[in-house]
Amino acid sequence: MAAKLIYFTVNGTPEQAEFLVDCPAEDVKDLFRCAAEAGPHDILKLYNPKGNIINISPSLEPNSPNSCYKLEVVAADSNTAELAVALGFDLSSMDKRLQGLEKNILIEAGETPAVVYEMKKQVDSFQEKLESVEHLSWLGLFKDLSEGTHKPSPFYHKRTLHKTRKECEHVREKFLQMSSLEVSEGVRQYLKTPTFDNWQWEDAEIMVLLQVMYTDLDFIAAFNIEPEVLQQFLFQVYRRYNNIPFHNFKHCFCVTQMMYGLIWLTDLKTKMDSVDLLIMLTCAVCHDLDHTGYNNAYQINARTELALRYNDISPLENHHCAVAFEILEKTESNIFRNLSMDQYKRIREGIIKCILATDMTRHNEILNRFKSILPSFDFTNKDHREVLMMILIKVSDISNEARPMEVAEPWLDCLLQEFYNQSDKEKLEGLPVTPFMDRDKVNKPSSQTGFIRFVLLPLFIELANLFPCLEQHIIDPVRKALDYYTEMEKALEREKQIRAQSENAAKSQETTVGTQSSADSHTEALPEASKPDAQ
Ligand SMILES: [Zn+2]
Repeated sequence: MAAKLIYFTVNGTPEQAEFLVDCPAEDVKDLFRCAAEAGPHDILKLYNPKGNIINISPSLEPNSPNSCYKLEVVAADSNTAELAVALGFDLSSMDKRLQGLEKNILIEAGETPAVVYEMKKQVDSFQEKLESVEHLSWLGLFKDLSEGTHKPSPFYHKRTLHKTRKECEHVREKFLQMSSLEVSEGVRQYLKTPTFDNWQWEDAEIMVLLQVMYTDLDFIAAFNIEPEVLQQFLFQVYRRYNNIPFHNFKHCFCVTQMMYGLIWLTDLKTKMDSVDLLIMLTCAVCHDLDHTGYNNAYQINARTELALRYNDISPLENHHCAVAFEILEKTESNIFRNLSMDQYKRIREGIIKCILATDMTRHNEILNRFKSILPSFDFTNKDHREVLMMILIKVSDISNEARPMEVAEPWLDCLLQEFYNQSDKEKLEGLPVTPFMDRDKVNKPSSQTGFIRFVLLPLFIELANLFPCLEQHIIDPVRKALDYYTEMEKALEREKQIRAQSENAAKSQETTVGTQSSADSHTEALPEASKPDAQ
């Protein structure tokens, strides 16, 4: 069998590779990979003496030491955009240019020349390589290739889902610098109110504020939590919230801050013990960890890894909870490490129950349980306390509308963005489209009025039955929000009607006199007051 000898340089060092002309392309690539001491996920770029990138394959043109190729390695630890920038060109614009070029040549010459074909093929294969490397880079650079990389991860589609190491380190440094600074009394008090504006604070500052909550609820002293362990825990939590429009670290903060506010407003410190309070604050912190931006319905319909793992039973909430305990398994971030076995057991059970309670498909079940115990609610009853804790995390989780309008409204935009992303994806993948996420059916006010009326208010009102003081803090602002969105909905409806009327008028002007009788028969059926000219 004929063998080929290829001469090339790696970082200026001459190398040569010998392979059989009919060997698999992968073997040739491996050969070059070995020569460059490149990892399995690194990209290899081979240049000919003209400086053009050429394919590493058995059909490589044999050369001589005088016309040797140049091999370069690109580390896999970056995403497509960064890689493309590093390589000095923009793939999508190159693709467009090629398409244009191909069209021109087709018009002039009647056929696509081989050289254009070759270039297109190179762009395609390069794009493919970049995408596969990008996928691997967030999966974990050092994951064994042989073990299931052919199987797409449930998160594959979300390219920038996870925070980069650089991003995390930057925030961590800032947080550690700030964490020893004293937070003013004014901010500490403001933090206890539902009017707190999260948009004024960046992520590192948010971590300091979370630290203040653990401190001011006396958890540090009561549970002997070392400051470095709390900091490491909060950092890991920050790291495991994803870059998605709504269910991100800022949402985690808002829910925790509302829970914190509710604890103070209802004076829970005098009614429940500190283990329960620790469960409540920590479950809020952890309740959406590693959310992917696609809800349970999607997970189940798309048969994602999460749905498979949890048998379609609250796949997301089970996952959030599992990630929380993954963080707590590590000694350096285990804020419960100085607790007794019994305390830990109680805390774990409580956190799991509370996080699983945030699955909205269980809304009525939990609310009905709460309603049934309300008339005889007893803080010394363990079951009663448990249901109350579930209600409190549920209220905190959907409490944006209880906040001032300027804080709440941007959150609605984020939520709709995430919803629309999901419905677009469902359409693309031929899955059932979640109706309240469909951009063709839902708008800002219509998404809110029904939700506030039928889900939010009935829940909040029951909680206020137990704690009447909450009426002014969380019910009044929600009613205001309902009025605001009802008005917005009416205005949109009026606009739609006016548009429809003017379109109809334009149409009827176009029609001839001959159609007049049919128009009359339509108006005949309408009641007197709704006829167009009955004022
Ligand atoms: Zn949430």
